[in-house]
Amino acid sequence: MVVDVIKRYLKRRLPRDGYAFSLFREGKHSLDRAASAVADIAPGTLRARPQRLFVSLTADCSLRCGACHYGRDFMPGHSLPWSLGGPMLEDAAALGVTDVRLYGGEPLLHRDIEKFVARTVDLGMSPWLTTNGLLLDKKIDRLVAAGLRRVSIGMYGVGAQYDRYVGRNGAFAVVEAGLARARARHGPETLDLKLDWLLMRGTCAPEVVEATLAFAAQFGMRIHVNLIHYSLPYFTKPEEDGGHHFRMEDRPLLERAVARLIEAKMATPDLIRNSIRGLRSIPDWLMRGPAMRVPCTERDLIWVGPDGSVQMCYVTFRLGNLYDARLRDLVLTEVHHRAARAAHALDCPNCHCSYDRRINAHAPSRRAYG
Ligand code: SF4
Ligand code: SF4
Repeated sequence: MVVDVIKRYLKRRLPRDGYAFSLFREGKHSLDRAASAVADIAPGTLRARPQRLFVSLTADCSLRCGACHYGRDFMPGHSLPWSLGGPMLEDAAALGVTDVRLYGGEPLLHRDIEKFVARTVDLGMSPWLTTNGLLLDKKIDRLVAAGLRRVSIGMYGVGAQYDRYVGRNGAFAVVEAGLARARARHGPETLDLKLDWLLMRGTCAPEVVEATLAFAAQFGMRIHVNLIHYSLPYFTKPEEDGGHHFRMEDRPLLERAVARLIEAKMATPDLIRNSIRGLRSIPDWLMRGPAMRVPCTERDLIWVGPDGSVQMCYVTFRLGNLYDARLRDLVLTEVHHRAARAAHALDCPNCHCSYDRRINAHAPSRRAYG
């Protein structure tokens, strides 16, 4: 309990880059590792401990990304109403949640996005918004005024290649111009901007990697490398893929991209958020898929969908629905604790969510990618 209070305090106070924050993350990895080691010996002791709430506010989206089902056949037409969202946030704060990610779909299309941000801040939690960036310029001032300090932009390539992937001509130029204007009004000391970069076949080419590094540096953004998914319900599966998933013959290209990312991180540690160890593990996650056996740490996550669904993680472990019950009554039940144990044992679709944290929390993986 005391550890949780200290963690919460440090998380709120420390800037999200620099040496102090990396020390804090290393400390978190050590705690994860200790919990993982105990769970290996005595699995029954492992329990769910919600600390992060990820809320997909709406299934609507202004883009049509090639590998994504949002805005089409994933929960179409659903949007989480504020009448459920307000009590959900109150329950989350009471449960000890520290971080609330607001995303979608496109969260800036949600009519009550400012209320979600303001209430999260009022309750002492830290909001984090993930957006495609199209409406950033229009909405960022009011969101910053409501207390938002962290934004991540989904990035799927550069220029015409981005436009092709998102299915909208001129979209990249709109995002780029909006970012420039938002950054001019809100510098890095006010607004932590991150690029949630999706590594897939189309973004792995050397010239795209270079352009992405330059794009992030230009706007004072850090890059988080996300991997194209093979088991998220709203992503295409490799078998239904339109050329976005990696194939075995792509390994050399992938290794080259990862080597460049590691080189960039060595030169400018704060440019890339992933750990070196996590970056080194990327080719194995993408080539081996569910054959990667690294215990999952998502027992501290609660995922809420636009239709009110509550799950332990993005993919599975359904706990109920906010239309039927309050969040506080759906979590920390025996079903939830069993889910935490199943995640550790990978008795699940075994995706690569939180791959970096999982690698760092697992002693054999740390040695393998050290
Ligand atoms: S990946 Fe994001 S921006 Fe693209 S369609 Fe899906 S929700 Fe919209
Ligand atoms: S590895 Fe399993 S528990 Fe973890 S996020 Fe993926 S499906 Fe959920």
